[in-house]
Amino acid sequence: MKKVSRRSFVKSIGIGVGSTTILPTLASFDSHYLKLIQPYSGKKLNVALCGLGRYANILANGLAESEYCQLSGIITGTPEKAKNWKAKYNIPQKNIYNYESFDKIARNNDIDLIYIVLPNGMHKEYTIRAANAGKHVIVEKPMAFTEKDCQEMIDACKSAKVQLAVGYRLHYEPHHIEIKRLGQEKVFGEVRLIHASLGYNLTGTPLDDWHLNKSLAGGGALMNLGVYCIQSNRYVLGEEPVSVTAQFAPKTMPELFKEVEENITWQLNFPSGAVCTSTVSSNCNIDRFYASAENGSFELSPAISYGPFKGRTSVEEFNFPVINQQAAQLDGIGKHIIERQQLPSHISGEEGLKDMRVIEGIYKAAKTGNKIKLN
Ligand code: NAD
Repeated sequence: MKKVSRRSFVKSIGIGVGSTTILPTLASFDSHYLKLIQPYSGKKLNVALCGLGRYANILANGLAESEYCQLSGIITGTPEKAKNWKAKYNIPQKNIYNYESFDKIARNNDIDLIYIVLPNGMHKEYTIRAANAGKHVIVEKPMAFTEKDCQEMIDACKSAKVQLAVGYRLHYEPHHIEIKRLGQEKVFGEVRLIHASLGYNLTGTPLDDWHLNKSLAGGGALMNLGVYCIQSNRYVLGEEPVSVTAQFAPKTMPELFKEVEENITWQLNFPSGAVCTSTVSSNCNIDRFYASAENGSFELSPAISYGPFKGRTSVEEFNFPVINQQAAQLDGIGKHIIERQQLPSHISGEEGLKDMRVIEGIYKAAKTGNKIKLN
């Protein structure tokens, strides 16, 4: 068995964060920690947030802490929000748009990138409109509803010569970078089984919440949360799944979940023989990742939410500094764009498309009761 993670993760380092040390050599981790030794003072990427709901507020905090990006514009359909955000973040009036004036952003050189934080069913349209306006795009998860939609978004960005990223914040989070390393470097041998589940109890959600509306959400727990479980399977194994079986659970709140699933469980098979099981739920709280390998295991719990995360292998605990996940993600993406480098594939639109292929397969498997091939 190879040496366990934390030591090798921490050893060669050289940077101290309080009493803890961290290794800044992992590419996606770099930019966020580089500022500890060398603060960035160059041009910042000017970001406009499109859709000012709950997550946009969290992203605004991330932007405030980001080294490479800054909040420079907003797109909102609510004049009251425009007024409040303008005052709070000192946003010039010329950088404020609504959904009707959105396309005029093409003429605004003070916006480099549009971050789409709208309900899922609007991701495709606004990604394509942002690309057509000549702006780089980050689109929130799930990227869209189908693999075909994702391809259209990728094509629009390619032909407009702008970059497209998906808002996969966990790719820049140290515990996740570590489980990816533990899996892909086979520190405990071949990973045989992964269990990754995420659930939030949505009892009491207002009936008019878009998460319950199929045309805006695309589905229920799977569309909202499933991508995190699929992502962790794929980056820990470094493989693409070949087949899937899945089951919807009976609804406990049918009055709420009229249009979308409340709970769904699935099993993914990978070429190495690894099996990954997941449940995503809208009626109970769960936030776990567990991987069992030939010679040991590693796990996170909490694992997927905003943290703080707790990590453990069968040998020792591993806990890294709590970071601002959104700032780390924005720095990782912003640095690449400022330096005119192609975004790494793990954060790109192609990555979102691969997840969407799996999501479509899971729905098909649950609806038909059949095992569905994925390639
Ligand atoms: P939200 O409901 O809080 O915000 C959505 C925003 O879209 C609101 O400002 C709303 O006014 C606006 N909007 C515009 N047109 C709308 C319409 N027709 N119907 C409803 N709202 C409309 O939602 P949220 O939680 O901020 O989620 C937004 C996106 O961010 C979703 O795609 C979600 O999956 C994603 N998200 C990602 C994370 C993450 O950790 N990466 C976390 C939460 C949400």
